Parts: sequence; C-alpha cells; structure tokens
Amino acid sequence: MRVRYVARGLGAMMLAIGPLGAQQPGGARGASATVKDGEECPPGMTEVRPRSCRAPEMPAPSIVDYRPRSTLVTAGHKVPKAKYPAIDFHGHPGSQMTNAVELEQMGAEMDAMNLGLMVTANNTSGEALKRQAALVKASLKMKDRVRILAGVDFRNVGPGWAAKAVAQLEADVAAGAVGIGEIGKGLGLSYRKADGTRLRIDDPDLDPVWDAAARLKLPVFIHTADPQEFWQEINYTNERWLELALFPGRRYPADKNPSFEELMTERDNLFRKHRGTTFVTAHMGWHANDLGRLGRMFDEMPNLNTEVGAVLYDIGRQPRGAHDFFVKYQDRILFGKDSYQPEEYPYYWRVFETRDEYFDYYRGYHAFWKLYGIDLPDSVLKKVYYQNALRITRTLPQAGWPR
Ligand SMILES: [Zn+2]
Repeated sequence: MRVRYVARGLGAMMLAIGPLGAQQPGGARGASATVKDGEECPPGMTEVRPRSCRAPEMPAPSIVDYRPRSTLVTAGHKVPKAKYPAIDFHGHPGSQMTNAVELEQMGAEMDAMNLGLMVTANNTSGEALKRQAALVKASLKMKDRVRILAGVDFRNVGPGWAAKAVAQLEADVAAGAVGIGEIGKGLGLSYRKADGTRLRIDDPDLDPVWDAAARLKLPVFIHTADPQEFWQEINYTNERWLELALFPGRRYPADKNPSFEELMTERDNLFRKHRGTTFVTAHMGWHANDLGRLGRMFDEMPNLNTEVGAVLYDIGRQPRGAHDFFVKYQDRILFGKDSYQPEEYPYYWRVFETRDEYFDYYRGYHAFWKLYGIDLPDSVLKKVYYQNALRITRTLPQAGWPR
C-alpha cells in the first residue's frame, strides 16, 4: 500500500532526524512525497524526480552496512613500493623504538615499500630519546634509517618554563634529535598554563623555544586542531558523521573548546611571528579540503611547509586540483604517514604516482568516497618523498639518495 503525504518542509524534517542521527523513521516503505523547490525530501526518502520523493520498498541499510561493489572496469595499478625512496616525516613507530628485533623488522617492512627513512614524531625527550638513539645507532641495518624529533613539554608554562625547555631541547639535540615534534593538538586545545588559563598557540611565553629552533636550525613539526567537521553539529550533513559517532573523543563541543578558526588564527600568528623558524604544519594544516587557503598561507609565509599524513582522502578526491597544487608548491610539501601501518603506505604511492580512478581508501570511516591518482611528475615526487625533508632537516643522513 502506498502512503502519500506532503512534507511540511525543513522544520518537520530536522525534527524527525533528531540528535546524533536517531533511527530514520522510514516506516512507510515505498511511501512518496512531494517537496517544494529547495526543500529536501523527508527522512527515509530520496528525490527520484524533481520535487518528487520516494522511500525504498526494502529497509534501507545503514551507512555502516552499505558496501556497494564497484562495477567500474578500468586499468588499476597497485603500487606496493614507492617509485623513489621516501622519508616519513610523520612517523609513529611504537615498540620498534624500544626493541632491537622489532626495529630490524620495521627495516624489512620499510624495504618492502621503499621507505628510506623514518622520522619519529613521538614527542620523545630526555632519557627515552637517548635510549632510542642508542638503539638505532647500534643497529647496522637501521642506523641511517631512523631519526628522532624531540618533544617539548608544554605543562605548566609560566615563569622559568622557557629556560628549562630550551635547555632540554639543547640536550635532546646533543643526544641526536633532528627537529621538534610532533607538537600535538593539545597545544591550543587542552594545555593550561601555570596560572590556569588556556595555553594559546601564540603565547609569547613560548617564544624562546621557537627562537631556539631557529638558532639550532631545527624544523618544528606541529599538529594544530583537527578536521573542521569535528566542531560541527553531528547530523546527517556532517561528512565525518561516522567517525564522530565511532570516536566520541573527536567531538569538540563549542562550549568547551576554542573554535576551529580561533586555533587556526593562533597557529598562523605563530608562523608569522617567527619568520626565521621553519615550521611544518601537519595534515596539510587541515586545509586539504581548501587548497586555496593553504596556498595563500604558503604565499604569505616562506617559512612554512606541510605534510600529507592522514588527509589522503582529501587529496585523492580532487585529482586535478591536487595535482596542480602539488606542482605549484612542490618545494613545500613533505611526505608523512602518521600511524605506522605498513599496509596503508601503498595507498599514498598509488594516489601520488598513478592516474588510477575510483579506488578505495584505506579507512572507510574517514571518507565515503573513492580516490583518484594525481599523477605527479618524477621531479615533484622526489621533492615530496625526500628532497624537501632533506633540505629543511640538515642533520638527516644526506648521502645515498637518488639525484
Ligand atoms: Zn602524529
């Protein structure tokens, strides 16, 4: 039986969706409705002709269960090994940095995907950094395949903090650190100063650390905020709905957090104020969905670079725009992966190196779309894979890379 009714517009629809995406009503299978121009169909229905909505005859699957098999027949090229040896500037190995056997095992995995060098961005400092540097140095296979970024401890910033932080940084450099990072999103989002106020990213109390980085020629690798959708209402228009529903800790309710734009402003103030310091904004600064914005930052801030970890879903959904962006800013982009999962790196090689179309991304909850190759020229691949990292990080092993 067909139930026919006319939707009462957007207000009625929003009411029906409810908070956090409660079950769609959709009770009336095969029901239909008409809407006015510009109105959306009621929940559970889709527009089958202009202004004409219909509900499926069968229960609709949730987005968790709907996994359509693509019938597209087109040439595809898996790329298990990068075309040129790559430097992972956003490395997060775990027990590999404390266990000699696992370290060598990581070397075998790196060989298999042509990852030439792992830069660990685990915020390591002090004794832990010394132990890890010694472990790497002791391995014949790995002594030139891993380098370590130093961490900065942002707890209790206040009088006397900076002198201690700079002294620790100098000690970490003496122990082998090649840069600073990863400065995490806690800077801006969660750290409190000794006086209890929020530690702003551009707080002048931190200036001596950025100045020391310039003096010691250390790149500063910094992750600020998170994808902007994490600040938005979790409704069915949010393109990160599934991720936010799976990981409650990724939501940033407006009443408890600085806004996305507030954090971006503080971050950009930092980059502008310290022109002599080389910064690498992680995850393409969370602007991979707005490359024009990142391009304007590059144009304005010659000390700024970026890294591509965990935003492949945005690069690969705009293959033409991303190709042009990578070519234009080829001296400013570094390869980085973030979480260490050897089976995920080849997705990056495939996006960067091929013209493949409409292929899967490695994490379904990040993206409800497929990826496309951006087909970078060899000269750009070399810069992104290793030349840019070598240039901004003088103490990386400089020998043995393809010319
Ligand atoms: Zn990271």
